[in-house]
Amino acid sequence: MENVKAKKKYGQNFLKDESVLLKIIESMPKADRTVVEIGPGLGDLTKQLVKYKNVRAYEVDTDLISILQSKFANELDSKQLELIHTDVLEAWDKQKSLYDGNYDLIANLPYYIATNIILRALEDDNCEHIIVMIQKEVAKKFSAKPKEKEYSSLAVIAELLSKDSRILFDVPPESFDPPPKVMSSILFIKKDLGKTIDKGFKDFLKAAFMQPRKKLNKNLSSKLPKEVLKTLFEEFDIAENVRPHEVSASLYSQLYKRALIYGRNEEN
Ligand code: SAM
Repeated sequence: MENVKAKKKYGQNFLKDESVLLKIIESMPKADRTVVEIGPGLGDLTKQLVKYKNVRAYEVDTDLISILQSKFANELDSKQLELIHTDVLEAWDKQKSLYDGNYDLIANLPYYIATNIILRALEDDNCEHIIVMIQKEVAKKFSAKPKEKEYSSLAVIAELLSKDSRILFDVPPESFDPPPKVMSSILFIKKDLGKTIDKGFKDFLKAAFMQPRKKLNKNLSSKLPKEVLKTLFEEFDIAENVRPHEVSASLYSQLYKRALIYGRNEEN
């Protein structure tokens, strides 16, 4: 590795395994779309990406920015690569999207903000695909299917906003320098563009999965009166003892819409 000390506070684990880099490139959609990379680091993945695509990369670390500027002088000159020195979450706060046109997000993410980044990308209208390296545990939470024990509010959100979400392959700690403490996975999401979910529904899901091993009706009792819950469960033929991970995304969506109607009726 170059003479750079990896900074823990920025979640820096540099991917050094060439075969993993190539597998990420193979999984990239073929369409001629710009790629957004979050955290180019020392530029190992960037080097592969710019061979095939125009790339916009967001990097927060000033020391890495100067390394990248000299490493990619030609690509920066020819505008094949655009390097933006900022915290990507701040960029998302300031502008609605990380890129003006449609793009694919391909990155080895900083793990300390990985969940947040994926949720932002899912709600970024211009983002078409998300192909990211993250902790295996988090990848499972986004890609699990109903009835699997990892099925979570994140999986419900991912399912409602995408056409496909799955783990492509796992990557062991030895593939990085320094090695992270956990196993990693590449998560692949193909978005269903135009789909949205509102804040009220996200709050509803948060309540539904508040205590994931408890009964769903117990968790939802913080949001809805007992009688309304009973009627809803009967209407949708949901067993009284069902757990949060046993209900499908579309059923959650229907339950929420119906609960809103009951809420409105109660106000009148
Ligand atoms: N892409 C490189 C690779 O594969 O070796 C580095 C990946 S490393 C896991 C995460 C990268 O994200 C680091 O370069 C780090 O500085 C950068 N990073 C951390 N927090 C960030 C933030 N808030 N905004 C933009 N980049 C960030």
